[in-house]
Amino acid sequence: MKDEVKAIPVRVALRCRPLVPKEISEGCQMCLSFVPGEPQVVVGTDKSFTYDFVFDPSTEQEEVFNTAVAPLIKGIFKGYNATVLAYGQTGSGKTYSMGGAYTAEQENEPTVGVIPRVIQLLFKEINRKSDFEFTLKVSYLELHLVDLAGSERQKKTKAEGDRLKEGININRGLLCLGNVISALGDDKKGGFVPYRDSKLTRLLQDSLGGNSHTLMIACVSPADSNLEETLNTLRYADRAR
Ligand code: ADP
Ligand code: MG
Repeated sequence: MKDEVKAIPVRVALRCRPLVPKEISEGCQMCLSFVPGEPQVVVGTDKSFTYDFVFDPSTEQEEVFNTAVAPLIKGIFKGYNATVLAYGQTGSGKTYSMGGAYTAEQENEPTVGVIPRVIQLLFKEINRKSDFEFTLKVSYLELHLVDLAGSERQKKTKAEGDRLKEGININRGLLCLGNVISALGDDKKGGFVPYRDSKLTRLLQDSLGGNSHTLMIACVSPADSNLEETLNTLRYADRAR
């Protein structure tokens, strides 16, 4: 079923974290709601977005992994590359979703994120295939597991100097990443994919398109105080789809 797999190289998951204590103490309200059984998020009362997966605030790490990430690991053993990207404003849950275990004792805690779960499943699958020989290399960026820098706009970060420059480069990277992902999902553009437009997309070239399966986890806060950034993330993720 190679063609079926190839037809959907990029999947988008929306993950909404719960309100954090600071938002609760500041009196923030939830501005997002979820449709049970549908991969859909509703903003306020009228605007809705649909993705491949939508994980509401009660969704645990294990469910995110089993639903959206584990199938990519199965693909690895059939010869596909796999990439998981976390996108979203600072504080939206990217690191929580991707990371989480820094010692062997933490490895089995329910809060551990995608990266330690990927490592565990990889070794489990490798151990089942005793007639093959495997070589594993790990590096945090070439990981194909990517925890992107915050996506918020300059205005909100009030960044200056070098941090502003970094912010501009990150934004250019994210803009190009959006263009690349959108070109990959769009047959009409004659197959041209603008990988070379930014360092980020050049770095991720082997992980996007070709024989790669990519999952973008778009992370958002449910708080009304973050509505503007949340809408930006929802639109960016919508375009990527
Ligand atoms: P980012 O990496 O996007 O800046 P973090 O992953 O650091 O954001 O998350 C910000 C805060 O929200 C942290 O305190 C984190 O523990 C909490 N958080 C994020 N996602 C969840 C979640 N799904 N469930 C519970 N707490 C979460
Ligand atoms: Mg982070």
